[in-house]
Parts: sequence; structure tokens; C-alpha cells
Amino acid sequence: MASKKKTSVSPYLVLACVMCALAFGLLVSIFLLASNSEPSNPSQEASNPSSAPVWQTSSATDTEESTSSEDTSSGGNIIDVSFPEESEPEKEPEPGVAGPFKQPDSAHAYEKKIGLCYSISLEEYEQYIDPADASEYLLLVNAKHPLGKDYKPDDLIRIADMRAGRPDYYSYLREVPEKALEAFLDEAAMYGHGDIKVSNGYRSYSVQSNLFYGYIDRELSRHPGWTYQQAYDFVGFYDKNVPGSGYSAVPGMSEHQSGLCVDMHNQIDTDHTFDDTPAARWLAENCYRFGFVLRFPAEKEDITGIQFESWHFRYVGRTAATEMHELGMCLEEYLEYKGLVS
Ligand SMILES: [Zn+2]
Repeated sequence: MASKKKTSVSPYLVLACVMCALAFGLLVSIFLLASNSEPSNPSQEASNPSSAPVWQTSSATDTEESTSSEDTSSGGNIIDVSFPEESEPEKEPEPGVAGPFKQPDSAHAYEKKIGLCYSISLEEYEQYIDPADASEYLLLVNAKHPLGKDYKPDDLIRIADMRAGRPDYYSYLREVPEKALEAFLDEAAMYGHGDIKVSNGYRSYSVQSNLFYGYIDRELSRHPGWTYQQAYDFVGFYDKNVPGSGYSAVPGMSEHQSGLCVDMHNQIDTDHTFDDTPAARWLAENCYRFGFVLRFPAEKEDITGIQFESWHFRYVGRTAATEMHELGMCLEEYLEYKGLVS
């Protein structure tokens, strides 16, 4: 009886041992799972670029921003060996400042063509920036091609009415150029040039006449020895050998009568203090993307007959503006090149 008692094992002891073994096994499993999951988090982030907005990760020319975001997401010295095929972010949009927007198909195709993306949505602007038929916006107005005194566009829009808080003195522009201008100004603001204001748009023949003949009277009073013709030529026609000449167009010869152009800047007055400013450079470099051209470039004075104006932008539509940009042509050259003017 005694020996039997010594060799028998309590069922409670067996059950306790089994429970201990199971508990130990469970603890080991939890530990292994925890130790495996910790290093996988940074590598998952690094191999999953879709977790960040596309416009932050795919910018190719904005090197500072893209470099710093790669540095932080790669997790320092952790070596990522998982999912190498997903570690490259998608390469679209192309080089440039990439916008966070899904653009209309034609705008997106244009972004890829020029290698630069818009920073604003063109959803409501594309049809105005790049109209189906832009031929009417290629109107040439200069000393050889003046407008009649009765010419007045019938689709003028008051620029002041298009955004809250604009000064009353803002003038008018034709509908299509005006809508394209709004996109242009919105994009400029995205680049830190939100202080650009329009100082002149459409100007009627009679307003231009009042200005022009007022200037002639002023010059005659300043220069008592001048003939009327001398004052007329001085005010109306630019001569690079005569400082200050050609500052106001002869009525009919002003492009402002077309309703297709604006003067815009961030200075007190419309003058050459704007020329060498970052805003002026940005407008000149980016206007073609919105269908505008710098109408009177410094290197084209002999062709346009007008002194360089850093503030005067003319709408022609994006197709023509981009061609002019690529060809390095002013409007006179471009229309002749296209066989659209004699
Ligand atoms: Zn102007």
C-alpha cells in the first residue's frame, strides 16, 4: 500500500504541469510575434509611397522637399528588404511642381508635354485656358493694324466682380481671357505672388483718346518749342534713341481696346520698378501655361515698336502661347510664321 502510494502521481500535479507548459508556450509565441512586428513598421512606410500625397512625393525639381521626405521615410539605418518592387514611387506627374489635383485629361496631357504641373485645379478653367477655337484671340493690334473707334467686345466681364475684396478700379476683360486670368492669378498666389493686382484691362477708344490727347497737351506745355506733330510722335511712338518716348498708344493702336490684355504688377504704379522683381520674372516665365504672353519683350522692341513692358500680358490661348514660348517669338513674328497676317 505504502509503495503504491509513493509511485502514484497526483492528477492535479499533471494538470498543473500541462497548464504551465501551455502558458509558457503562449508567452513565447507572443514574444516572437512582437519582436517580428516592430522592425516591419518603418519598412512598410518606406515601401508604401501612396500613404503620402502624390504631390509631395513625386516632385522632381523641388529637390529639397523630395530629398527630405525620403530621408525621414527610409527610417535611418534600418535596412528595408521587403517589397523592393514597390519602393519606387510612381513617376507621374512629371518634373516640376506637382499639383495634388486630378486634372482634366487635356491639362494632364499638357503637363506631361511641358514637364511641369499646375499647382491649382484646372477643373473649371481648362476650357478657358485652352479653348477649342482660339482663332479670335489671335487678333493683332498695333500701329499697322489699328482697331476702329467703334470696336468694342460684347463679352466684357468686370474683373473686380470675380473675387471678393478687389478694388473698384479694376477694369474689364473679355470672358475667356478673364477666366484664364483667374487661374493664372491663383497659381501665382501658390508661388507666393498673391499680391499681384490688375491695374488695366479693357480700355475703350474714347478713354484712350482722352488719355492720349491729354498727354500731347502736357508735352506741348512742357516743351513750348515743339510742334504738334513732334508731341504726337513723342507720346505715341517709341524711339529707343529718344528717352521717354512712346508711352501711350495712339487711339485704335492700343491693345487694351481689344479686351484681351491686362497690365498687372505688385507695385504702386505701372512702371519699370516692376521689371526686376521676383513676381515679374514668375509671371513672364509662367504666363504661357495659362494662355498669356508677355506682349512686349525687351528683345523684340524693334518688331513690336513698343518699349519693354514687364507688366503687360496678352491672352492668345495656351496652344499659341506655348508655341510662341517654345519658338521665342512675339505675336507679330508668330502670326507671320503661321501665315495669319500679312
Ligand atoms: Zn498695357
